[in-house]
Amino acid sequence: TLLIMGSVNRDITAQLPEFPQPGETLLATASETATGGKSANQAVAAALVGAEAHLIARCGPDAAGADAVSSLRDAGVHIDAVTPGRGAQGMAFITVRADGENTIVVVPGANAELTAHDCPQELLERADWILFSLEVPLDTVLESSARARAAGVKVALNASPLTGQPLDLRDVDLVIANEGEAAQLLSHATHAGVDSDSAAQGSRPGKPPPGDFAAALGLETLIVTLGAQGASIHEAGRDPARVPSVEVDAVDTSGAGDAFAGALLGRLTRGDSLETAAAIASRFAASATTRVGAQASYPRDFRLGGPAGV
Ligand code: ADP
Repeated sequence: TLLIMGSVNRDITAQLPEFPQPGETLLATASETATGGKSANQAVAAALVGAEAHLIARCGPDAAGADAVSSLRDAGVHIDAVTPGRGAQGMAFITVRADGENTIVVVPGANAELTAHDCPQELLERADWILFSLEVPLDTVLESSARARAAGVKVALNASPLTGQPLDLRDVDLVIANEGEAAQLLSHATHAGVDSDSAAQGSRPGKPPPGDFAAALGLETLIVTLGAQGASIHEAGRDPARVPSVEVDAVDTSGAGDAFAGALLGRLTRGDSLETAAAIASRFAASATTRVGAQASYPRDFRLGGPAGV
């Protein structure tokens, strides 16, 4: 069983020839609405690779919230722990320019009300892994990670979006980050001397050798996603391993990171090795880039034992 705790949004996307200037109003050439939010995307990806995926989140008490929840249920996500907040449904306003460049404004709404109490003890007791991302209050993530670890559940964090503040990773086993996020985490670790902190805790005595990124962050495992280049696996005390990239004609990479994280954790809870789970996640995420949209682009008929291609 996999728990995914974090955000669910309503994505409203408008296509425009140009971004509006301050004070300007433009008419979109096309638009669509879809369910999004990092954790909701990850839950859908996990369900599509065959995991029992439970989302823990706050939706709006409104029609938009009910809509989001029913679309997640249709995608195979368990939604028993998605409860209505007082605030409106979380929203993302996305503009996509003709050249594919985008801007995104997220309005957290009910996502800001998610607390550690939203995670039912009964679910924690039967979970193998819990996956967090950072579109909900950081205190909720930290408190829930500590609770999960105390219950014997492995903790994964997709370190996105990062705010520039240092992150406390003491209750995290596995971090998934893109290149920019990984660089930011490592620069904080170096400045804050996390190396000596983790040594002081006795978890990984001694200073990690240069290039042991997982150990430098006090983690068992760091996975860095590398866009079209696939990903790399960094396990503390071991040489990094490369996850094969998959060549596709990418048309829209939005939601690719969430596809990778959700599929990876989905397969880990199904008992795959890290290498196998990451290779499957890489194929799943590559397939998602060949269609427009975030979770709407995820392959519904994904074959686990597919060829090296998608
Ligand atoms: P993010 O979108 O979070 O910045 P990445 O760009 O690293 O994350 O993409 C996440 C994963 O999606 C990659 O590890 C890879 O598996 C897949 N992916 C992304 N872009 C492409 C691409 N152009 N071709 C093939 N796979 C891709």
